Amino acid sequence: MIYNEIIEQLKIQNSDELNALFGKADAERSRHCGNGIFLRGIVEFSSFCDNTCAYCGLNKNNKTLKRYRLTEEQILDAVKNINTAGINSVVLQSGEEHGTDPGLLTRTITRIKNELPDMAITLSAGEKEDDVYKEWFEAGADRYLLKIETTDEALYGRLHPGMDLKNRLRCSESLKRIGYQNGSGLLIGLPGLTEEIIARDILYLQQMDFDMVGIGLFIPHRATELSDIPHGNLQLTLKTIALTRLALKNSHLPATTAIGSIEEDYRVDALRAGANVIMPNFTPLPYRELYEIYPGKKCAKEDWNSYFAGLNSLAGSIGRYIDKGRGDSLKNREQYDSAQRN
Ligand code: SAM
Repeated sequence: MIYNEIIEQLKIQNSDELNALFGKADAERSRHCGNGIFLRGIVEFSSFCDNTCAYCGLNKNNKTLKRYRLTEEQILDAVKNINTAGINSVVLQSGEEHGTDPGLLTRTITRIKNELPDMAITLSAGEKEDDVYKEWFEAGADRYLLKIETTDEALYGRLHPGMDLKNRLRCSESLKRIGYQNGSGLLIGLPGLTEEIIARDILYLQQMDFDMVGIGLFIPHRATELSDIPHGNLQLTLKTIALTRLALKNSHLPATTAIGSIEEDYRVDALRAGANVIMPNFTPLPYRELYEIYPGKKCAKEDWNSYFAGLNSLAGSIGRYIDKGRGDSLKNREQYDSAQRN
């Protein structure tokens, strides 16, 4: 896709044209990824963060947030719960702390791989030096999710005081070079984001050919400087998902939790506009509510049995099925062929 075409599509409002765009993305998703909806269990293992991202409730200036850090045992127990639910993919996520010992995660990854060798591990712990990324990769981590949020230097700078877009870009390149299945993503609804910027962002995602891309929707948090900004526009978020699908073909795209956390749960709309992944939350309950990147997180109090029943019927209602397998990158030819056979 070319820049002007993406902008034109991002601007459409007419419902026939919108349905045509979502339908095209859905057909592309079916052709390249099959009909499975992959599950990735997420464990938010620490809410400590040294960054001051203007939109995020975890930012270090939020003194009202009670912070926590799970122990190795607690993380392992949560991953065992994922395994008991039959799911073979975990995302270990945290705020970004500088200068902490990477050993906690190294030991945890090693233990998960020893005890649950079939579990695919995705890390999402922010920007690190290459030697730390290598240490975790060598311990057995398979994937890394580091969302760029936006590639626009001025906008990135305004929203991320003290951070450097170039370093984030460098990290994504390092992760790819080291051998991780590489994930990125955007945050739709940030003040100052335009269709032109989103179009450039999509082209960046395409050029990097990411294995997975999360398109989030901004939800204001009361303890941030963006507390008065309305949440991101659902339609623009869905259009961005659809266009990302058309540009990246066989990347994994989650229907992000934020899309399920506004007035209604719109994740099914994302699944019909090109998304093929859902990330159920397995953070232990006393802590889950404390990982408050934005308020009203869909999963904050979810009960497991009813959640799964709901997921199965949701998948069935749109002619899809729940796939609890590892859901490896489809950029790898073998995985791609097996998805085609489904
Ligand atoms: N520290 C890691 C990093 O920097 O990639 C991962 C943790 S960070 C809290 C995870 C994601 O939360 C971010 O990539 C961002 O897109 C999302 N997020 C943060 N604040 C948000 C908000 N107010 N609304 C929606 N998504 C938000």
